Amino acid sequence: MAETQGSTSPITVWQVKYGERVVRRSDVLHDYAQYGLPDGDLDMDYNFWVLRAGETTILVDTGYDIPARDWLGEISVTPPPVGLELAGVDPAEVDMVITSHFHYDHIGELHLFENAQIVSGRAEYDYWFGKWQAGQLEGEFTTAENLEPVKRAEEEGRLRLIDEETEVFPGITVYPIGGHCPGELLTRIDTADGGLILAVDAAHFYEQIEHEWPFFAHTDLEEMKQGLAFINRLAAETGATVIPGHDARVRDRYPAAPGRAADVANVLG
Ligand SMILES: [Zn+2]
Repeated sequence: MAETQGSTSPITVWQVKYGERVVRRSDVLHDYAQYGLPDGDLDMDYNFWVLRAGETTILVDTGYDIPARDWLGEISVTPPPVGLELAGVDPAEVDMVITSHFHYDHIGELHLFENAQIVSGRAEYDYWFGKWQAGQLEGEFTTAENLEPVKRAEEEGRLRLIDEETEVFPGITVYPIGGHCPGELLTRIDTADGGLILAVDAAHFYEQIEHEWPFFAHTDLEEMKQGLAFINRLAAETGATVIPGHDARVRDRYPAAPGRAADVANVLG
């Protein structure tokens, strides 16, 4: 990894879409009825993110093999390996994968990145490996198969567990945050124009950031509310723009990537 690069080296951020579905607001926003607003559809995208700085390639999340799993009715748009190829990323040459959290749709293809350092929240690791050991993964948002590559990375000395705000690469800082799951990592990236915060599942949709509305799926509702407030505070303090993890409207706000990647990727910064 090009650790010697200074913090001034520009980092580019692409969002790669691999799946989609349509959801009802009242299904995905916690206790939506309390707001007294009309129900409606939200277009939900499934994404991972490619960060490049010089020769270094870092992924945030990996996506999953939708046809092989068929979980919540997601529709495969571009299988992650194809999306990677179109984005010009060779999985064997990825230096680091930051896992936002261990849900199936975020680490399902982690096995592709055999040479990468894996960066994960320690609270996330403790929670899911505890459940695995106790035989309690049935019906959960992740499987033993999903966790195997994390275990392998640990055995090979490639797993870095995060306890607190940490700059994991010059210009890339992760922040552990609870709520949706015990040990989600927010990723803040210094980019050429002000920076980005990849909220991933700490905020799936723009409404959640704007109004600090929690998502229906959470391990701790209070922590989720605190997490949304933290995202807005961090954005105000750093001037960074927050990118929700599953909102199809992100693609309306950012240009398509150049060349062959145009159909699957948007340039966020
Ligand atoms: Zn997700």
